[in-house]
Amino acid sequence: MAKQDKNCSFCGQNEKEVGLLIAGLHGHICNTCIEQAHDILSNEGIFKNMDELIDFKLKNPAAIKATLDDYVIGQFEAKKVLSVAVYNHYKRLNQEIADDVEIEKSNVLLVGQTGTGKTLMAKTIARELQVPFTIVDATVLTQAGYVGEDVESILSRLLQAADYNVEKAEKGIVFIDEIDKIARKGDNPSITRDVSGEGVQQALLKLLEGTVVNVPPQGGRKHPDQKYIQVDTSNILFIAGGAFAGIEKDIANRLNTNAIGFRNENAIHYEEEGLLKYVNAQDLRSFGLIPELLGRLPLVTHLEPLDRTALKSILVEPKNALIKQYKKLFEMDGIELHVEEEALDFLVEKTMELDLGARGLRALCEKVFTDYMFEVDTLPHEFHLTREALSSKI
Ligand code: ADP
Repeated sequence: MAKQDKNCSFCGQNEKEVGLLIAGLHGHICNTCIEQAHDILSNEGIFKNMDELIDFKLKNPAAIKATLDDYVIGQFEAKKVLSVAVYNHYKRLNQEIADDVEIEKSNVLLVGQTGTGKTLMAKTIARELQVPFTIVDATVLTQAGYVGEDVESILSRLLQAADYNVEKAEKGIVFIDEIDKIARKGDNPSITRDVSGEGVQQALLKLLEGTVVNVPPQGGRKHPDQKYIQVDTSNILFIAGGAFAGIEKDIANRLNTNAIGFRNENAIHYEEEGLLKYVNAQDLRSFGLIPELLGRLPLVTHLEPLDRTALKSILVEPKNALIKQYKKLFEMDGIELHVEEEALDFLVEKTMELDLGARGLRALCEKVFTDYMFEVDTLPHEFHLTREALSSKI
């Protein structure tokens, strides 16, 4: 008997006419009908959560660093540490085989002056991986029972960033800024605020390590009648950052104490620049972070202060460099903007005086360009910004 041709039970097409025919118990379905069915389900929102789940091809550390290079100038060491940490973190999430070897979380602590790129790095990585990202300021956090925000509010913000998709939020990245401001500052009892900082550090411990937290969806303080969303923090990557002003003193002390016997001749003066690259957990502990917290931020790295060359590069090189942005804005008004080399140098000089790192660049540029944008109708088609013109504005 001749073998009977099979048809799709939905559209009736013959197996020879379709790409693929899948057999069921009582019929068949072709690839076109599967695709159509998928579209219907998607439109009905049934796949909503599945589609929104993070499904990224993890890049290797060198590729992650290359992405950082597009946006962040310098900071080789920090980029390297962060790339490897992120790589290992998401590798840990993807590990399928459950065995005895448990890969621990690799939360990171970035030490560096303000405006050197700490937040920018964390933000760039999150954007690249397309995971939810939030920045929280450690100074607004407080121990339960005091005035301020509970640490759980960190997760409320992450949830908001993930459009309340809990699974997505659970794979996100949180940047805790100004972690140095919750360092222990000795005994300083207060009834309204946990000024010593230690309570906040304690409260952060569980969160950083991984626990299921009841999160008030709108943030703020918890109260008894509120509905909570449960969020598991085990797979959330925490990156903490702080300037740790004066930590060079702790580093120098440690380095000098280690060199017993050579103390006088080889003593390192803490005013010396570049000591930050030696920063380790011991120094951070001397600064006032509790050992338990440091244990949960196992990777410590530093960011270099930005010198003139770096600041100048920041103005023009990154993918979304400030000058590129202004050029674009002027272009929309039909004006070709050229910022002369000396004008760039002048901006850098003035920024160095502000001592705000690259943050100062933006402030200065805004000041100058706002004026020109206001008078945009009077500008020539090719507009050359000179040092002289700038110096009259700043
Ligand atoms: P902080 O170290 O205080 O977290 P940020 O990362 O917020 O500093 O930097 C502030 C702004 O300065 C950024 O938005 C960015 O425009 C610029 N910036 C700082 N450091 C760098 C850098 N290394 N490369 C490029 N831009 C930088």
